[in-house]
Amino acid sequence: MPLQIVTIPCLADNYAYLLHDADTGDTSLVDAPQAAPVLEALRDRDWQLGHVLLTHHHWDHVDALPEILAAHPGARVVGAAADAHRLPPLDTPVAEGDTVTIGREAGKVIDVSGHTVGHIAFHFPESKLAFTADSLMALGCGRLFEGTPEQMWNSLSKLAALPDDTLICSGHEYTANNARFARTVDPDNAALADRAAQVDAARAAGQATVPSRLSEELATNPFLRAGDPDLQAAIGMDGADPVAVFAELRRRKDAF
Ligand code: ZN
Ligand code: FE
Repeated sequence: MPLQIVTIPCLADNYAYLLHDADTGDTSLVDAPQAAPVLEALRDRDWQLGHVLLTHHHWDHVDALPEILAAHPGARVVGAAADAHRLPPLDTPVAEGDTVTIGREAGKVIDVSGHTVGHIAFHFPESKLAFTADSLMALGCGRLFEGTPEQMWNSLSKLAALPDDTLICSGHEYTANNARFARTVDPDNAALADRAAQVDAARAAGQATVPSRLSEELATNPFLRAGDPDLQAAIGMDGADPVAVFAELRRRKDAF
């Protein structure tokens, strides 16, 4: 049985996720933005946390950890070994290629540095889930606070190479704004126009726009399309190196 996920809106626009293996009862939390909604989601289902998987050190992904652990003292904390000095205390420091087992499914750690250097993602291939937080986001990607455009492009390229039907579980509800920006750099993309309309409808109905399918991101997310001739032409960078195109897209988004 694939792992179940529960998407938990936290704070103004963050998401945490529960990952649950119905066969063994094992449950994990991905990121800890806010305790109350996470603890309530666990209580409602009578689930106990086995692990907390941390994607990166920013406060809006880790600050609620002590309060969550107080209610789930058996949970083991997993995070990037490279960032152990600025993450909460880790029980299991991990690096790219390491495995995190939830119930009976082994997830792989992927280094997705760029937003921060040390940001990791967790990929569960059997369940077709990737927890990408502030690296690949729905119609966008995280701002480059620490990494270079080349680092983020490499990170996004690793995620883009996962199977097309992978669900991308990202860290924020930024999709409507991302869609408005995307249309400015990829104006003739019909799939993007359709998706932007769906995103607006979902938000108007109070629904989350995450997780999203990798296949839709590949077709519509400008930050994955930096090598696409149509997008390059639309921003006057025909034939340019995708890293340079990515850097220009990120620069424009920062000023959007
Ligand atoms: Zn962040
Ligand atoms: Fe964040």
